[in-house]
Amino acid sequence: MTKLYIVIPCYNEDETLDYTTEKLSEKLEQLISEKRISADSKIYYIDDGSKDKTWDKIESLHNSNKFVNGIKLSKNRGHQNALLAGLLHIKDDCDCCISIDADLQDDINTIDKMLAEFENGCEIVYGIRNDRKSDTFLKRSTAQLYYKILSFFGADIIYNHADFRLMSSNALNALDGFKEVNLFLRGIVPLLGFKTGTVEYARNERLYGKTKYNLKKMFALAIDGITSFSIKPIRMITAVGLIALLISLGMLIYSFVQWALGNTTRGWTSIVWSIWSVGGLELLAIGIIGEYISKIYLETKSRPRFIIEKTLEENKTDKQIQ
Ligand code: UDP
Ligand code: MG
Repeated sequence: MTKLYIVIPCYNEDETLDYTTEKLSEKLEQLISEKRISADSKIYYIDDGSKDKTWDKIESLHNSNKFVNGIKLSKNRGHQNALLAGLLHIKDDCDCCISIDADLQDDINTIDKMLAEFENGCEIVYGIRNDRKSDTFLKRSTAQLYYKILSFFGADIIYNHADFRLMSSNALNALDGFKEVNLFLRGIVPLLGFKTGTVEYARNERLYGKTKYNLKKMFALAIDGITSFSIKPIRMITAVGLIALLISLGMLIYSFVQWALGNTTRGWTSIVWSIWSVGGLELLAIGIIGEYISKIYLETKSRPRFIIEKTLEENKTDKQIQ
């Protein structure tokens, strides 16, 4: 039977954890009684260096509830890192895990459908919001803009999917191969490959506590998403440099014609042309240096070059080679 772990990053969430634990325990009990998951399934709370009583709460829940386990990070490292810490910590202990936010804005009844996809052989199942009514106008429009910008810059992310997803132990082990420090999970998970599925759900309002994503954190997440995936901004500089050089060629012809017609003041031709050509050359040079830097940047990530899903051979157990 499937051993399911639920991984939840928590930052200053002491108000919501009683409610969250109650709801998730009910869900786990239901799935256990339906014999869909094993009785040793767990809820893992990851305390992301909270400043309130979140850790005390997790400790007392651990003592009173058989499902609850906890991990405490030494300081606040942000949602993505907290989630990653949890996922990598449990990667070999469970058959699959589901990551969800502490406020349960993502409908936990979707878990049944995610498990069904897992039982059908999917190693990754994305939860996709089918409406954003519960978000404020600002959040909705910034989120939409964000998906558009990211896809323009070439990051392969799933539209309207946050971090509510199921991953198998296999997929978690593959994720472990990505050693980059600026890890943007929503961009990395699609790179893993494997058989994937999606389930749709409606997102609820946050019932307890406040959002932990202020504009500053959202902005940082957006910039991280772009700069940890794309070298397109560098390519754009090269392109602008080339365009400026082309314009300088045009300016060369134009200023010579003006000079020949006697329409120019002394010195104008050479100054105008140098401005364009030197500017263009500089931008192009920066772009070329940028190309090399982007190679270094991609190398330093030392991402796995491939991930083996299965093998058919004698005397070897399935394992992932990178
Ligand atoms: N979170 C975290 N570290 C942070 C900020 C947020 O672990 O620095 C957690 C938070 O406790 C919650 C999840 O990330 O479980 C999503 O945060 P929130 O619900 O506030 O975001 P929103 O739903 O408003 O986008
Ligand atoms: Mg939330």
